[in-house]
Amino acid sequence: MVREMSKKTIRSWASKLRRLCPTLLPVRVYVRTRVKCRETGKPVCGLTELSEERGYPSRFTILISEGSNQVMFDTLLHEWAHCLSWQETRGVTDHSLEWGLAMSRIYTAMVDAQVVTQ
Ligand SMILES: [Zn+2]
Repeated sequence: MVREMSKKTIRSWASKLRRLCPTLLPVRVYVRTRVKCRETGKPVCGLTELSEERGYPSRFTILISEGSNQVMFDTLLHEWAHCLSWQETRGVTDHSLEWGLAMSRIYTAMVDAQVVTQ
């Protein structure tokens, strides 16, 4: 059972990210008790999936494992960088140079908005 508090906290971070670092496709964020890697079945802090509708990419889904606020925050930013840096020619999960740049941009935006230090 995911605590209401962590859901509310994640929702507020996600809404700041939507405003500060908008993505090409809509992003849905969910907190789950335990998120597992689709391929290995091992527990992970989070993951990002790309959904398609009628053969076209339509939205991202970020799943976050419930944990401490610090871990969930870091995970959300990591996964948001996947959404922000996504290019149709590449998968949604790689840690490319573009992903690194997106991560840097997101952290800077969240620091500037004083979200990181709260
Ligand atoms: Zn990643």
